[in-house]
Amino acid sequence: MARKFFVGGNFKMNPNTVAEKKKLVELLNQADIDSLIEADLDLEVVVAPPSLYLLPLKDILRPEIQVAAQNCYFKDSGAFTGEISPAQLKDAAIPYVILGHSERRTLFHESSATVAQKTKAAIASSLSVILCIGETLQERETDQTTQVCSAQLQAVVDEISPDDWSKIVIAYEPVWAIGTGKVATSKQAQDTHADIRAFLAKAVSPAVAESIRIIYGGSVNKGNCGELGVQPDVDGFLVGGASLKPEFVDIINATR
Ligand code: PGA
Repeated sequence: MARKFFVGGNFKMNPNTVAEKKKLVELLNQADIDSLIEADLDLEVVVAPPSLYLLPLKDILRPEIQVAAQNCYFKDSGAFTGEISPAQLKDAAIPYVILGHSERRTLFHESSATVAQKTKAAIASSLSVILCIGETLQERETDQTTQVCSAQLQAVVDEISPDDWSKIVIAYEPVWAIGTGKVATSKQAQDTHADIRAFLAKAVSPAVAESIRIIYGGSVNKGNCGELGVQPDVDGFLVGGASLKPEFVDIINATR
């Protein structure tokens, strides 16, 4: 079965005002993307605003575009100031959550074990997970990319069952490409995605390796999305900076 192309917009801690958020929604609501999504032509679009905007955005956004939280905790309720839970996201009918983004791993010290616990909890609440993995520049330069990505995935393999992988989209995001303007070449992306699939074939099952979507993230823009998007193992994108701009529509339409 063909893998449905997936384009995610990670707004991070943006936009800064309600007015800017409204402008962004207008852009998406007016964008010429209906034919692709409505006809179910192998495209899924998901945007991840700050949690403050999740419900208001879900209410005003065209229904073909889904929303994702940028993070969640692994407990369902309790004394965890500042956190939101998988159960709360489920109750609010938020279908997706991004977990393990490199900014969470680096700035907020989330270990692979924590990311795996969160993934397990999110799936237990019927959420789908955009699971981010990726190596630093130093790790790529010392040929550790496969090892690092495999270890980040192994932590999740250890926590969830093989069936749970149907709820996951893997976002391969080299840390050195995020927000730097330094995009991976299409060969680097393709080779790493193929390695990730090979790891999953062994660690989970060949069927999961074949069916799971592996999307690329890190300085994707309208100029580079075309070449990246046609690589056989690149099933879409996770877009940061460019998801806040009109060119996000070009990226959504990358494979048109
Ligand atoms: P970028 O971010 O597109 O701004 O590089 C990607 C991401 O962090 O998901």
